[in-house]
Amino acid sequence: MRNVILGKTGIKVKAMGFGAMYLPRVSEQESDVIIERALEIGINYFDTASAYQDSEEKLGRVLSRRDNDFVITSRSIACKTSFDAFKKEFEQSFDRLGIKTIDFYGFHAVNMKRELETVMGDPLNFLKEQKGKGRIRHIAITGHNHVTMTEAIKTGEFEMAMFPFNVIEREPLDSLLDTANSLGVATSIMKPLAGGVIESKALSLRFFFDYPVGVVTPGMASVKELEDNFNVFEKMQHLSQAEVRKLQEEVSVLGKEFCRRCSYCMPCEKGIMIPFVHMIHMKCYGKPMDDDVAYTLGLAERMISALENCSECGKCVEKCPYNIPTPERVKELLDILKK
Ligand code: SF4
Ligand code: SF4
Repeated sequence: MRNVILGKTGIKVKAMGFGAMYLPRVSEQESDVIIERALEIGINYFDTASAYQDSEEKLGRVLSRRDNDFVITSRSIACKTSFDAFKKEFEQSFDRLGIKTIDFYGFHAVNMKRELETVMGDPLNFLKEQKGKGRIRHIAITGHNHVTMTEAIKTGEFEMAMFPFNVIEREPLDSLLDTANSLGVATSIMKPLAGGVIESKALSLRFFFDYPVGVVTPGMASVKELEDNFNVFEKMQHLSQAEVRKLQEEVSVLGKEFCRRCSYCMPCEKGIMIPFVHMIHMKCYGKPMDDDVAYTLGLAERMISALENCSECGKCVEKCPYNIPTPERVKELLDILKK
């Protein structure tokens, strides 16, 4: 598999990284096997976050025993709560991972302008201090809104930006990717399979071979998924015209009401996490009940009381650039959760 250089940091990693957000779905033993296999086949970039339940601990079980032959990114979303909560999660990441230095540490889900303003104050100064002490090597930022991410990159404070980019969510092509590449900011691609909604997984991954992206990090929770994805990157076949058409046909239906998680509709005065509603709805509504659906619904159970409070005010629909019918989706999700 070819290597990619992570922007100005000069760090070289395999073009496919390991997204660890789904590791909480498997046991510690299964997770050990998957991570060991990833290392064995040459994967050397791992992406996790405090918010991904026990993902950091599971990576730490294997990686903390290694001789620094990998690159790891983690991050905290806790700035949305308070600076103290952020500092606590920062320390927690070291405890969970069991390592002394984290290569990239960043701010998680910085979607709105005001959230960017928040992280640019004390939290950023704190990470700079930690970098000075050698506890982290580089500062990163992640978010779902390509405009906010572009603004973040332009500040010159971040060495890596992580954002969704896939055959449905092509907004990073407007200017985000070019801006990052021109300023030497590493890019890490999240949701390369659009959150798992695209059936033609290999084609969706091959889509990236035509774009100047950094490391692509599909979320994986089995050796089979890992090896299937690895083989796609190993062969590195560009899409033919016919394959591009096939992929476009498949996503043309999905794309119409596909939530980009940009958060323009937020905040909801009833406390509903709208992008999360759409993510769960997309994975579960009208789908047969299998382990994946059951797991996703389990994550959403605590949302029931907030969903019941939806007043159908429609403000979220007015603010959404894609006119996504959120109140309808809220009702549908509530129905399946109650069942
Ligand atoms: S319609 Fe429901 S989800 Fe949308 S803003 Fe109003 S209360 Fe929130
Ligand atoms: S519902 Fe619309 S505005 Fe809200 S996150 Fe999704 S795409 Fe963005």
